[in-house]
Amino acid sequence: MSTGLDDTRSSALFERAVAVLPGGVNSPVRAMKSIGRDPLFIERGLGAEITDVDGNSFTDYVCSWGPLILGHAHPAVVEAVTAQLAKGSTFGAATEGEVELAEEVSRRLPSVEMLRMTSSGTEASMSAVRLARAVTGREAVLKFAGAYHGHVDGLMAEAGSGLATAGVPGSPGVPAAAAAATIVVPWNDPDALAAACAKHQFAAILAEPVPANMGLVPPASGFLELLRELADVNGAILIFDEVISGFRVSGGGAQELFGVQPDLTVFGKVLGGGLPAAAYGGRRDLMEHIAPAGDVYQAGTLSGNPLAVAAGLATLKLLDDEAYLRLSATTERLASGMRQAAGDCPVKVVTQPGLMTVFFSADEVTDYASAQQTDRDKFAAWCRALLARGVYAPPSQFEAWFPSLAHDDETIDRTLEAASAAFAEIA
Ligand SMILES: *Cc1c(COP(=O)(O)O)cnc(C)c1O
Repeated sequence: MSTGLDDTRSSALFERAVAVLPGGVNSPVRAMKSIGRDPLFIERGLGAEITDVDGNSFTDYVCSWGPLILGHAHPAVVEAVTAQLAKGSTFGAATEGEVELAEEVSRRLPSVEMLRMTSSGTEASMSAVRLARAVTGREAVLKFAGAYHGHVDGLMAEAGSGLATAGVPGSPGVPAAAAAATIVVPWNDPDALAAACAKHQFAAILAEPVPANMGLVPPASGFLELLRELADVNGAILIFDEVISGFRVSGGGAQELFGVQPDLTVFGKVLGGGLPAAAYGGRRDLMEHIAPAGDVYQAGTLSGNPLAVAAGLATLKLLDDEAYLRLSATTERLASGMRQAAGDCPVKVVTQPGLMTVFFSADEVTDYASAQQTDRDKFAAWCRALLARGVYAPPSQFEAWFPSLAHDDETIDRTLEAASAAFAEIA
């Protein structure tokens, strides 16, 4: 297929990949199926730029789906990880870095008095739900349609991210009992939320406070406050999944930005600075139920891995107030330029600091149902046109762009020129 790109070597690799990796990839959204092409194989990245195996360079707005808030191969991260690697990569024993990282997270987020590290966001959200069930003695969990909390059995119902991209409502292989314990409610719908809370006793109310896996769909005014209030009335543990929003929308995540404190928070992505690290944490009285302090079991061979901790600490160290102001300004420059570039093409450009989605829709997108009304064919054509012009955007309407601190004004302006031409091409 003609894509305006020389992808000879990527195509050859993809042919080998599909023989040994399901769909040729190790995570579904990498496949680029939904924008009608095969994946590019990436060889290296530096700052805001990635280069594929055919030598094509792109401005990267995927940034590994969120972790790379400093951009690729940031010198401080490279140095921290290299120094740790020379001292040993993993011990399966306690290290100083883990304590420092937990203290740093706790300093930024008052709601997080203690935390436990894991290697993926999936593990962290699974474990937070286990803890909520253990302390409440209840099983039912409320989640929102279009929210993604990793590929946990019970949490894939009407999930966003790759499930939304593939257009599947859940997954085969999930036990009926696991699915039945999950009650799904539309995002930003106070009446549906109140009705579900009146009907069920929940172990947990689980939300992405700034949902970014059905595209970016921020909370309506007062909605997070309502979650807090109804969780308290219901006796449920309020869990914020800040795997994307944490350390991105502000230094203290969405809970700081919106001023609503959860009982437990799930972290990932930025926390590991590009290496596999995630965590769940919150109120001390809850977290002390986790083994070996308490009897709720959860463990991990590579949890708190020294390389990942070094990358996370090096990243957080650079995320001061000035960095967040700069990331916000970058996001705003990108978003306002994008609205202009779109011209007559009906789009809605939605932003939060460090996040953006361009919905191909004439109407506002407020929940999963309205996100599904977007023009996916147009989006796909626009994405391919961007790729041909050196802009690597998330290849799904149900994902957010991840501008980083490595994206300077000149980079953004080049992106906007490409976007403008891509809009003209698909008009
Ligand atoms: C990415 C993501 C997860 C899952 O994290 P993994 O490290 O991919 O398992 C969970 N929740 C949210 C909100 C995410 O964006």
